[in-house]
Amino acid sequence: MENTITGINKADQKHNYHLDSESIIDAIPNGEKPKMLMHVCCGPCFCFPLTYICPHFELTIYYNNSNIYPKEEYDRRLDELKKVVEYAKRDYGYDIKLIVTPYEYTSYIKDLRPYSDEPEGFVRCQTCYRKRMSEAYDYAEANGFDYFCTVMTISRHKNAQILNRIGAELEKQHKYTKYFYSDFKKDDGQEKGRLLRIQYDLYNQDYCGCEFSIRTKKGE
Ligand code: SF4
Repeated sequence: MENTITGINKADQKHNYHLDSESIIDAIPNGEKPKMLMHVCCGPCFCFPLTYICPHFELTIYYNNSNIYPKEEYDRRLDELKKVVEYAKRDYGYDIKLIVTPYEYTSYIKDLRPYSDEPEGFVRCQTCYRKRMSEAYDYAEANGFDYFCTVMTISRHKNAQILNRIGAELEKQHKYTKYFYSDFKKDDGQEKGRLLRIQYDLYNQDYCGCEFSIRTKKGE
């Protein structure tokens, strides 16, 4: 069955992208730390990936999330993310650079509005994933990052197969930056992230981001 814009079928659903992450990390030559740009949507989702990625990569994170409504919520999620960056320095000694792009909800939401009535996970959301990942990937390529990754595979509400398929397509459209395949939920990643969120007492939003997701509040 193929009911998504990325054409995921049942065979694809079986792929374990976490094993791909492990293979990429295993292939890094001793003593090297490639530069990675990671698209990050909020502090809670970033907690586990930072502990997984930072030992192996020089990490810069990219907060381009004009999907979030209203602006106060966007600012609140950004503030929580800044706290996590500080805690990563304090608790692990990691220096993580944060890049924030301008908030442009009105123009961003135009492409999603035709699908406003859809449940989460279908064309509206896949369009939303692709828009943000594509924008961030372009930045990574233009600024010499070795790898690009998205934190979104940690979310139990987002299909890692679809996200990684989009990542693979974007990789083909870029010459230099490689896509880092991931499924941060696997190998207890989601639970480890949950415990870090509690330890750091982070605000945990109860809807995904856009105005259409507010009506189905359920936690991210
Ligand atoms: S529910 Fe989330 S992923 Fe889907 S369109 Fe809204 S903000 Fe984007």
